[in-house]
Amino acid sequence: MTTLMTPGSPVNRVYFPETGALAELILMADGSAVEVGLVGWEGMVGWPAVFGSQVSQTWVLCQTSGQFLEMPATALAEAADRSSELHRRLHRHAAAVIGQRAISAACDRHHDVVARCARHLLAARDLGDNDELTLTHEFLALRLGVQRPTVTVALSELERLGAVTHRRGHVTVVSRVNLEEIACECYWAIRREVGRHLDWLPTSVQSWFSDAGRRT
Ligand SMILES: [Zn+2]
Repeated sequence: MTTLMTPGSPVNRVYFPETGALAELILMADGSAVEVGLVGWEGMVGWPAVFGSQVSQTWVLCQTSGQFLEMPATALAEAADRSSELHRRLHRHAAAVIGQRAISAACDRHHDVVARCARHLLAARDLGDNDELTLTHEFLALRLGVQRPTVTVALSELERLGAVTHRRGHVTVVSRVNLEEIACECYWAIRREVGRHLDWLPTSVQSWFSDAGRRT
């Protein structure tokens, strides 16, 4: 895993995943870490720099191979100053991230680890192009804020329920339908939250987001 930003480091560049995903984590004083965001084609990393934040709050990791566009943060800020539409979109994107993180915070408090694991696996699947997910237990533990043995228990339960199979470093989605049945409502709530803010996306993509409205 490649580190792109560390907490407290200057945000000199912003990143736009085209394929693959970037993970944002918060580091705790005891050295542990919890993932607070997984950014794919729908988003970007480093956006607070456009609004004047000089340093990164999060540890940003390139979790999977993929194609990422990048540019200097100052260039994006200057472009936003020249374009009211770009400025509007950056604000909408920020609102989507804030909404997503609010739902995730509630989810972490109220939903069990199997349902949350299913939610995260669906989100990871949405950012890729096949059912084979390269995900270590260590990374899923960061994502879920639990110890690795708990991840093993959760994945074994998902396998027993016919949703996935797993082996070292890989999770295969064998039934998306089953995974959707097991995942908590937050998967659908986050999809809708992101979709309602990113109003410039093509109609086909918008319909995918709004389709989540049926699953409440
Ligand atoms: Zn949840």
